[in-house]
Order: sequence, then structure tokens, then C-alpha cells
Amino acid sequence: MQTQILERMESEVRTYSRSFPVVFTEAKGARLTAEDGKQYIDFLAGAGTLNYGHNHPKLKQALIDYLASDGIVHGLDMWTKAKRDYLETLEEVILKPRGLEYKVHLPGPTGTNAVEAAIRLARVATGRHNIVSFTNGFHGVTMGALATTGNRKFREATGGIPTQGSAFMPFDGYLGEGVDTLDYFEKLLGDNSSGLDRPAAVILETVQGEGGINPASTEWLQRLEKLCRSYEILLIVDDIQAGCGRTGKFFSFEHAGITPDIVTNSKSLSGFGLPFAHVLMRPELDKWKPGQYNGTFRGFGLAMVTGTAALRHFWSDDTLERDVQRKGRVVEDRFQQLAAWLSEKGIPASERGRGLMRALDVGTGDNADKITAEAFKRGLVIETSGHDGQAVKCLCPLTISDEDLIEGLDILEASIKQVFG
Ligand SMILES: *Cc1c(COP(=O)(O)O)cnc(C)c1O
Repeated sequence: MQTQILERMESEVRTYSRSFPVVFTEAKGARLTAEDGKQYIDFLAGAGTLNYGHNHPKLKQALIDYLASDGIVHGLDMWTKAKRDYLETLEEVILKPRGLEYKVHLPGPTGTNAVEAAIRLARVATGRHNIVSFTNGFHGVTMGALATTGNRKFREATGGIPTQGSAFMPFDGYLGEGVDTLDYFEKLLGDNSSGLDRPAAVILETVQGEGGINPASTEWLQRLEKLCRSYEILLIVDDIQAGCGRTGKFFSFEHAGITPDIVTNSKSLSGFGLPFAHVLMRPELDKWKPGQYNGTFRGFGLAMVTGTAALRHFWSDDTLERDVQRKGRVVEDRFQQLAAWLSEKGIPASERGRGLMRALDVGTGDNADKITAEAFKRGLVIETSGHDGQAVKCLCPLTISDEDLIEGLDILEASIKQVFG
């Protein structure tokens, strides 16, 4: 495979091509094909961007039809039929059945654009500046979003410019079992001398993705919602990775029965891998003045077309939800067995996650890298996350066939036994 031009011209900032140094040419469902014809099962799926797999036929057809009809591809944020269809479908298929009432802000098309918009809206709406985020949280890498992201690797990349406007609290489980980390947050909120500026908002992932697949418990999330309400702090759920069905519900916060004031979605929102993001907000919070937050690529026509098709096709009933929960248990069982096997071999390992957002924690990034490198040789694309990259994570397409899922898990098992056997 010819890779010289890629190695010579693309900046050193590149990341995933280092773990998977082949040239990919085609993909379908949960399978990727490289230029030499070798096939790979995809347990990374664009870090949760391809929840419905690669090139899903229904979504692809919607896109082809729209292009063939000379539909509007770009129109700044003018009204288009594609936008009207998207908003109508979002309301009818997702919001109404869940009893949710939100207005929709279409920011630039990436996740970090949505987070920037969400935290700025919280500041505009409350007149306060401070945003509380949590240890191991990941919310993007532009300056505002980065201020709420924990990982030092990204924070140090500003060249010494301090990120501002946020305060970190310990996430659920951060201080070990038996400690409710919200005791600390509540104490700070109630103490005029705590040094914590009264927050405009709290931002969190209900299952932390890049931070190592850390699910917050239902009780913790419900208590956080209560705390936010009693101190009039806005609750922002960043559902960019955990949303769009990844945890087995469309929104990850549905499991806990909480209602955020603001929600961000991106990654799998277009359903097809096209860049797209939205911010959902309680209608009273829409304090934006016209054009106060703008951008050239707000509401990408093609992404709204595939996004609409994805909502109609996958979310008009609960078939996919139930399927994700079932497959999630398959992954959970296998990860538990592997964790037990590793622990017996003297490598303390554990399993965690929700739905098809799952991790096998193997203690160190070193261990995890050895496993994922061996898996790639054997035809499985799988990545790590966490503070040390110690969590081998399964983010396979939600639509993966049982055969591909089992084959992927078999490859992972064989890789682990090869490396540590
Ligand atoms: C990926 C991600 C982001 C950032 O999205 P980008 O499109 O990479 O800017 C923000 N929040 C969460 C939870 C993410 O997983």
C-alpha cells in the first residue's frame, strides 16, 4: 500500500492513522476494507459517529435522491425544505414521545461547536460565567470547550494560554466506592467561603466516552439534577458520544429520568458520518439575539437529509433500542469473562459501560495498546480511552450483525490470550 505521500504531507498531529496504518477504501455496515483487500471489523465506528454503520442503504438512498433532485446543499442558515423536514421529524419522532420540549440551535457542524454554543448560551441566559465540569470529562478542543475538558494532553496544547471559565468537580466514582462525590459539590455550593463562583451551568456526559467509558449512576444523576434546580444552575448534558442510541436509549439521560436544560448532540446525529451538530434548549433559555452566534456551516443540508432518514428509520419504534440493550449484554458478558481471565493472570481488569458503550479496563495504557495492536493485525479496529488509555472500548455500530459482533469479540479474545497467555 502506498502511504509515502500521507506520511510526508499530513501533519504530525494525525492520530488514528498511527494505530491503523493502512489505506482504507470501502466500508459497509460494520466492515472496513483496506486497499490490499483485507477486511476489518469496526469496533471504533468513528468514535461513535457511525451508530448505524457505514453507508447504511436507507440513508445512502435518501442522500442520493436529494442530490439527484438538486436539493439545497448549502444555504447558510436560510430556511430549506431539508431543515423543515429535520425539525419536524425531530419533534415528532424524538421529542414529543419523550415529553421533551426544546428549541433547536444549529451551530457549526462539529461537537466542539455545539459545546461552545451551549456554554455560551448558558452564560448569556444566566449572566454568570462559571461552568462546572467533571474529572475525566471530554467536551472538545476549542478554547471554551477545552476549558471543560480534563485531559492534560489536550489542555497543554494551547501553548500555555490558560483555559478559563470552568471549575472541575469529581465525577461519580472518582474517589472510589462508597463516596458520593456530590457531597463535595453540594458543600461548596452552600458555602459562601468555598471559593466556587456560582455556576451558570454544569456540563457532563452521563457516560464519559474519551474519559474511559465511565457511567454515572442513576442516583448520582438524579441528585445532580436536584442540586442544579435548587441553586438555579443550568444542567447541560453533552450527549455527543453517548447519544443517538449508543447507551440503548436515544438520549443517554433517559435511563436516569432526568431532564437537562440544554443538550448537545453531534457524532451520530447525521447517521451517515456527515458533520452535523445541534444544541437543544428549554424554550425560555433562548436568549440569543439574531446572529449573536454565527458561522458559515450551520445546518448542513446533506446531513439534515440523512439525519431525518435515520430518525424515521431507526427511531419510529423501540426495535433498535431493545437490540442495543441485548447486544450490550453480549459484550458485557464477554468483557466480564475476559476481565476474570486477565485478573487470574495477574493483570487486574474490569468491565463497565451502558448499552453498546463498553470498556474492558486493563489497568494501563501499555497493556491496552498491546491488545489493540494485536487485534488490528487479526482484523479488528478497536481503540482505547481513559486517563492513561487503559480502557479498551467497544463502540461498534449499533446495527452490527450478531455474526460480526461475535467475530469481533472472538478476535479480541484471541488477541488478549496471545498477548498475556
Ligand atoms: C467527540 C466529543 C466532543 C467533540 O466533538 P468534535 O466533533 O470532535 O469536536 C465533545 N463531547 C463529547 C462527549 C465527545 O465525545
